[in-house]
Amino acid sequence: RVVVCRIGHRPGRDERTTTHVGLTARALGADALWLEPAAAGRRATVEDITDRFGGPFEVSVPDDPIRRIGRFDGRVVHLTMYGEPVADVVPDIRSGQRERPLLVVVGGGKVPRQVYDHADHNVAVTSQPHSEIAALAVFLDRLFEGRELDRRFADADRRVIPQEAGKRVVDATDGGSPRSAETDADGNGNQAEES
Ligand code: SAM
Repeated sequence: RVVVCRIGHRPGRDERTTTHVGLTARALGADALWLEPAAAGRRATVEDITDRFGGPFEVSVPDDPIRRIGRFDGRVVHLTMYGEPVADVVPDIRSGQRERPLLVVVGGGKVPRQVYDHADHNVAVTSQPHSEIAALAVFLDRLFEGRELDRRFADADRRVIPQEAGKRVVDATDGGSPRSAETDADGNGNQAEES
């Protein structure tokens, strides 16, 4: 079980980034997302995507995520440019993950010192500053060694059929009839999911 915790959400400025942390966690193999109370408004967006495109993927909003990180019954990875190189530590993290849940923490604004201290591993995806979304994506891909790309999602009400060009989305609830608004071959269908 892999849980992603997003901390340091700055209301206003980070709304889309926090949503994308959640969508990336879901798409790339994590099982659950913890959001801070300040980011609670993002919960519905991530849950809406899960309702439409499948799960399981749980979103929760603990009152005090930093405290929850300290009490997590499993291994804690904190993604930070100041940590150890991902390639060096991921084999150890991967072997532990089979027996114990893994919590992956990403920041936004300044990350409190306790997070570095609570973490079993402070992990860098390069030592260059970039993005929590990119760091999470690379970390999950290294953790799952690419297998997450073939993940099957249960209880979806729609499913994308990969196309060389254009868009094809079928109704996953009735065996695959086309969804009219999203099936045009010229790529001009409903853009809403690519938010
Ligand atoms: N200024 C913040 C600080 O001092 O901790 C970090 C800001 S950064 C835009 C937001 C988050 O992206 C970080 O908390 C970290 O989780 C992630 N991140 C950015 N660059 C990273 C890297 N090279 N490796 C791992 N995580 C990274």
